[in-house]
Amino acid sequence: MKGIVAEVALAAALAGAVAAALWRRRAAATAATRQWSCGCGQAYRVSGIDRHRIYWPAGETDPVLHGGCVSCGAPLPAEHERVAA
Ligand SMILES: [Zn+2]
Repeated sequence: MKGIVAEVALAAALAGAVAAALWRRRAAATAATRQWSCGCGQAYRVSGIDRHRIYWPAGETDPVLHGGCVSCGAPLPAEHERVAA
């Protein structure tokens, strides 16, 4: 009986560690993306900087590959970005 209790406690501890690791990974992914809105009002999530930027239309799981707004076709900004101090 004691062995089972120890196993349950170990399983619970492992589950907690996995959940914490997943949470940290998700927090990092969220921090790496930011919001951007096209002039037409289409909202995007943006990851990366400068020419390595990737745009996801809000609510979509597939990134924009052709570099144009999915709503109005305007080119998405890819020039060097100033970091606000
Ligand atoms: Zn647009």
